[in-house]
Amino acid sequence: MSAPIIFSGIQPTGRKHLGNYIGAIRQYVEAQEHGDPAIFCIVDLHAISVAYDPAELRERFYDTTAILLAAGLDPAHCILFRQSDVREHTELTWLLSAVTAHGDLNRMHQFKDKSSRQRELVSAALFFYPVLMAADVLAYRATEVPVGDDQRQHVELMREIARRFNERFGEALVVPEFRIPEVGARIMDLQDPERKMSTTGATEAGTVYVLDEPDAIRKKLGSAVTDSGREVRRGEDKAGITNLIDILAVARGVDPAAIESEFEGAGYGDFKKAVAEGVVELLSPVHERYAELRPDEAALEAALAEGAEKARAIAAKTLEKVRDRMGIGPSQSR
Ligand code: ATP
Ligand code: MG
Repeated sequence: MSAPIIFSGIQPTGRKHLGNYIGAIRQYVEAQEHGDPAIFCIVDLHAISVAYDPAELRERFYDTTAILLAAGLDPAHCILFRQSDVREHTELTWLLSAVTAHGDLNRMHQFKDKSSRQRELVSAALFFYPVLMAADVLAYRATEVPVGDDQRQHVELMREIARRFNERFGEALVVPEFRIPEVGARIMDLQDPERKMSTTGATEAGTVYVLDEPDAIRKKLGSAVTDSGREVRRGEDKAGITNLIDILAVARGVDPAAIESEFEGAGYGDFKKAVAEGVVELLSPVHERYAELRPDEAALEAALAEGAEKARAIAAKTLEKVRDRMGIGPSQSR
């Protein structure tokens, strides 16, 4: 079997949190080993779909780039680039919109959630977000998309778009597979464990940021909401404890069951302390490398430029084929 073509995108919000790290970034680092290529895109064009400040977007963009490199993405082993540097994404968005059902976009949970939180304007961009996301992936004929569980519906939609394109215009696009980690695909807000940890719409005290100082991490985990019981075990009625077990399992690289047996009979206070130390240890090497990498914006730009060039070469070929199949521009076969 040939190696998978892996693609994933991440928003340049800068304040990436533990959910992003465990659900997505950790998978990216592993994907570099088996993807050929493994392609990671920082999606600035997605970020403009909600209220934002232009100068801040640029700053947060560099923060995000440095976080990804600090976490272990290596431009020698992956393609890391800025979405807006490869214009093919926006062109393909429009072309794919011709085979995207308006009714499907209307059903997207993320649009419903995020649109209800907008104060000034619910942009058409927010509604169109999944089409741009489909273009991101389909432009590279990617076979695998490592994401967190919240992206399931968007990946299903891009699969539908690819299938509809191929049926209507002939095989040109690849129907990608969704990949979520076995543990940690949905890290929950520490203060509200029924809700996913999130950049938008989560509680500040319940969100651990990758760049939080150790003391802030300890404080947030120390005040994590649990339940009135006393057993450290996973369960439907134990959302808070289940979330903490998953976090510690990932931090230590062990099975959640191993955490349950280790903490059998332990109190919640001691358990939370252990989770905090696990997270501090998980993130401290990332902090150190981030501090080295973030100040050199020219080096960050150089890495991104190298990535964009490689990405463009792949995307341009797909676009040529898509345009040709759709009857856009002069025929390629003449
Ligand atoms: P926003 O709320 O603005 O959409 P976000 O926190 O979802 O921000 P993104 O940059 O959109 O951040 O997501 C990057 C990746 O992180 C995606 O693959 C997403 O599925 C994953 N992810 C986001 N939140 C979680 C979470 N709580 N647990 C696991 N994975 C997550
Ligand atoms: Mg998101």
